[in-house]
Amino acid sequence: MLVSELLTLLNKLAPQGLASSWDNVGLQVGNPSRQAGKVLLTLDVTPSVADYAVKQHFGTIISHHPLIFRPLQSVTRQDILTLAENRIAVIAMHTNLDVVPDGVNYALAEALGLIVTGTLSDETGSKWYHGSVTAPPLYLEKLAEAIHSAGAGRIGLYDKCSTRHDISGTFRALEGSNPFLGNQGKYEKVDEVELEFMVDSFNLPAVKQAIKQTHPYETPAVWFAEVQNANPTYGLGLVGTLEKAMKLETFAKKVKTKLKAPFVQLWTAGKDKSHPVRTVAVCGGAGGSLIHKAAAVADVFVTGDITYHAMLESSVPLINAGHFHTEFPVLTKLKSLLKKQDIACAIYPAESHEVGNNLLI
Ligand SMILES: [Zn+2]
Ligand SMILES: [Zn+2]
Repeated sequence: MLVSELLTLLNKLAPQGLASSWDNVGLQVGNPSRQAGKVLLTLDVTPSVADYAVKQHFGTIISHHPLIFRPLQSVTRQDILTLAENRIAVIAMHTNLDVVPDGVNYALAEALGLIVTGTLSDETGSKWYHGSVTAPPLYLEKLAEAIHSAGAGRIGLYDKCSTRHDISGTFRALEGSNPFLGNQGKYEKVDEVELEFMVDSFNLPAVKQAIKQTHPYETPAVWFAEVQNANPTYGLGLVGTLEKAMKLETFAKKVKTKLKAPFVQLWTAGKDKSHPVRTVAVCGGAGGSLIHKAAAVADVFVTGDITYHAMLESSVPLINAGHFHTEFPVLTKLKSLLKKQDIACAIYPAESHEVGNNLLI
């Protein structure tokens, strides 16, 4: 498999257009037309990850956190040079992997045994559009198929979603036109169908192209409008329920065990440690900005990177399990998804990871 083919596959799993505007995702080092080879999965590309990839003959590294984040003036960093000189490609799947089903938060929820009920925040780097196009009834299915293939109509666990209604359209073909229906210069009234659908901003160019290529009209009547709500397929953080309610302290211990974290911090928010918890909000990595959202819907919030004051101010009990340990489960998920596609891959071992358990003394 070529690096470019691997990128296409990964883009289906976590479209780059879902990444936040400040982020840097996608191919960061490497030639897209080379073989991807064996794939190493990691949360970070540190110099020791780069050395490991060279020694173990990996062809590509997929990292959650970007190797290159701030713009570079020159390429002198030893980690980047080692990778480039050894023809190892680096692909970052960061905030796009945070917000997709099968991403960071689903992996975390799964590791904690949650039954997912929805996203915690509908924040993503993309926008949602309502689209409408009119066509002669006979051409509708072909057009709908092209639009759906280009990515429109995906809502939650459903795809090919659309609305159709019979309409009557009017037009007059002006001089120089080549009308598909009717005659030039004549005011025409025709039976048509209006096809309505939703589309994510990252699929908008492909959908516009599909309409252009499939529609029989010289000038199709088509419009797109950004909507206020977000596609429920994507979002940051998740909410889920435990099969059975359990004591806050028992759940905190369960989080520690399930995530193989060396420790977790429990903030009870003034509640008793035996307070029952059933609804759980999770956000892998740094979830501090979602505390208020979690407080509105959950009995407890599991995340990482919570500051002392954020913890003190939180009205919802918090389990701070660390950035690394709340994100690590996604690597196992990525590995099984790649294995299904017959891609040879391995996870950079947690115990070799600098910011995994190694820093604890
Ligand atoms: Zn992170
Ligand atoms: Zn993340």
